[in-house]
Amino acid sequence: MKNISILGATGSIGTQTLDVIRSEKDHLSLKGVSANTNSEKIIEIIEEFNVEYVVMMAPKSYEVVKSYCLVNNKSTKVLYGMEGLIYIATMDSVDIVVTAVVGMIGLVPTLEAIKASKDIALANKETLVVGGEIVTYEAKKNNIKILPVDSEHGAIFQCLQGNKYEDINKILLTASGGPFRGKSKEDLVNITPNEALKHPKWNMGKKISIDSSTLMNKGLEVIEAHWLFGVDYDKIKVIVHPESIVHSMVEYKDGSIIAQLASPDMRLPIQYAINYPERKNSRIKPLDFYSISQLHFDKPDMDTFRCLKLAYEAGKSGGIMPTVLNSANEVAVDLFLNGKISYLSIERIIEKCLNKYNNIQKPTVENIIEVDKDVREYIRSTY
Ligand code: NDP
Ligand code: MG
Repeated sequence: MKNISILGATGSIGTQTLDVIRSEKDHLSLKGVSANTNSEKIIEIIEEFNVEYVVMMAPKSYEVVKSYCLVNNKSTKVLYGMEGLIYIATMDSVDIVVTAVVGMIGLVPTLEAIKASKDIALANKETLVVGGEIVTYEAKKNNIKILPVDSEHGAIFQCLQGNKYEDINKILLTASGGPFRGKSKEDLVNITPNEALKHPKWNMGKKISIDSSTLMNKGLEVIEAHWLFGVDYDKIKVIVHPESIVHSMVEYKDGSIIAQLASPDMRLPIQYAINYPERKNSRIKPLDFYSISQLHFDKPDMDTFRCLKLAYEAGKSGGIMPTVLNSANEVAVDLFLNGKISYLSIERIIEKCLNKYNNIQKPTVENIIEVDKDVREYIRSTY
């Protein structure tokens, strides 16, 4: 039996992870879950999975869930905040932690889980963007597997099975191109949050949906791939592939390219990461090559979608710059979703922050947390 905690069980990845666990109850068992505010969904999870622990980040939701458990005589223990997140990420009864929270809030509990020798099924890419060097160092030191859930990285991880990392020539990271593929800068001036949230291929949380539309998601994924697979930025190439069937590819030194293909369904990479190294049956729609008939590949437009370019630059600079990039993006996306700034201001704010901050090489967790706080305060006081 594999025992699982999910950090962020009520979101898009969290919900699909529950689906996987539900269909593989014979060997997967859910022990701990967390949410920010969604007490309703957490109560449903308590009812269905009888979990040992739940964690709520928001004080009011914590009170709601706590009194529900008390009134209904539930054995589930209810914890609160970051301390609770760390608890369910490190507790003895857990083998693997699915990190499905959104944003760099995942950094500290992920690091604590690694130190407690838990394998990580990592969806929360922001954690690797800001803390890639520290997280991969700790994982190596503690002999822990970081199993990618992001579909592209899950694909690359599959393409690497049986091969040597040092034989990689290039990583070919595919991108759907998002809802505004082919648009010009002028077309993007008046984009509204509702338009940006409509992703053509994937149904995801709000933050990653906006990131997909600006191509920042791909930028974060480039940095994620750099840390996961130890490949230089010059060897990570983004390829726009609107059908989202080829989930990524690895080109080896002999010129062979190995790709992973499947219907676009996040339950597949989640299932692969949780069950690794086993492969299990799934109910994902098989690909029918007779009906696909054509697949398209193209170059990303980094002049119109500058976030991707900025992410490459921040990644290459290394040190604290990916944190500046990520924090600026998290705040700017939030401001855009709340109608406070325009769509194109997202990339402008990020660029401004990257120019404003001096680099710190080899940042500690404390440096990362401090700079994150500073970037957030700067943007919120300016816009
Ligand atoms: P969602 O917004 O759908 O879910 C986020 C989860 O995190 C929810 O459980 C939410 O709780 C919780 N949460 C939100 N804010 C906080 C906070 N401040 N502290 C603690 N928990 C919080 O996001 P997604 O599932 O789409 O994405 C999760 C992660 O996975 C992201 O890093 C994303 O980039 C990555 N990812 C997502 C993919 C997808 O298909 N969705 C694909 C690949 C990667 P509540 O419900 O209470 O708000
Ligand atoms: Mg992805």
